[in-house]
Amino acid sequence: MSDVIRGVLFDIDDTLFDYTSAERAGLLGTLAAEGLVAVFPSPEEAVALWRGIMEEEYARFLVGELTFEEQRLVRVSRFLGRTVGEEEATAWFAGYSALVNAAWSAFPDAAPVLEALAPRYRLGVVSNSTLAHQLDKLTALGLLAHFGEAAIVCSSEYGQAKPYPGIFLEGCARLGLPPEQVAFVGDKYDVDALGARDAGLRPFWLDRSGGAAGQGAGAPVDEGVTVIGSLEELVAELDAVSRRRSGHGRAG
Ligand SMILES: [Mg+2]
Repeated sequence: MSDVIRGVLFDIDDTLFDYTSAERAGLLGTLAAEGLVAVFPSPEEAVALWRGIMEEEYARFLVGELTFEEQRLVRVSRFLGRTVGEEEATAWFAGYSALVNAAWSAFPDAAPVLEALAPRYRLGVVSNSTLAHQLDKLTALGLLAHFGEAAIVCSSEYGQAKPYPGIFLEGCARLGLPPEQVAFVGDKYDVDALGARDAGLRPFWLDRSGGAAGQGAGAPVDEGVTVIGSLEELVAELDAVSRRRSGHGRAG
C-alpha cells in the first residue's frame, strides 16, 4: 500500500484559529459588561461552564436537534440558570460575538506551516460550522489564500457534520485526491482524529496541551492516529512519511 500523502485537510477552530482564547475574551467581557462577574465562583469556572454548555448544545445543533437560534437560546438560559427570551438571547450574543470577533487570532504556527506545506500539498478545510462564518474568519486571519474557497467544506452547507465520514470524503474530493492520500489535522480526538481515520484518511491529532488535556497525559491513542503537539510537528511528521516512502520507493 502506498503511503504517499498529497493533501492536507485542516479543522479550523482550536486548530488554525485560537477559538478558546477568543471565546474566553468574549465571555469575560460580556460578564463585565453585564455586571455578572461576581455571580460565578471564579472567571475560570464561568469560562468552563460556558464552554461545556456550548459543546453540548452546539453538538445538538450539528445533528439537527436544535436550530442555530435555538442552541443560542438554550446556551444563554443554561448559563444564566433561568429561562431567557429570544430578545435577551439575541442581545447577549450580539455583545458576546462582537467581543469574540475582536479577539480573533490565528495560532502563531498556522500561517508559517500553511506556507511551508503549500508548495508540496493540496490544502483544504473541513469544519463543523457555516461557510459564511468560516470564510469571514479565514479572510480576517489572512489564511484563506492558502486554501481558496473551493477547498473549504462546512457542515451547515454539506448537510452532515464530522465525525460523519461523508464530510471528510467531500474534503478529499475537493482536493481531487483519494482519502488514503490525505492527512487530516484537528484538535478533537473523537470528532477529528477518529472520524478521519474511520473515513480512510491519515489522522493527525493536534494536542496543544502537551498531553495535559484530551486523552489525558501519556494515554495511548488508537492505532493509526499520530499525535502532534503543534502544527510545526505536522511538517516534521509529513516529511518523515515522505522520507520513509522514498526509502522504500524504488523497489516498490
Ligand atoms: Mg476544532
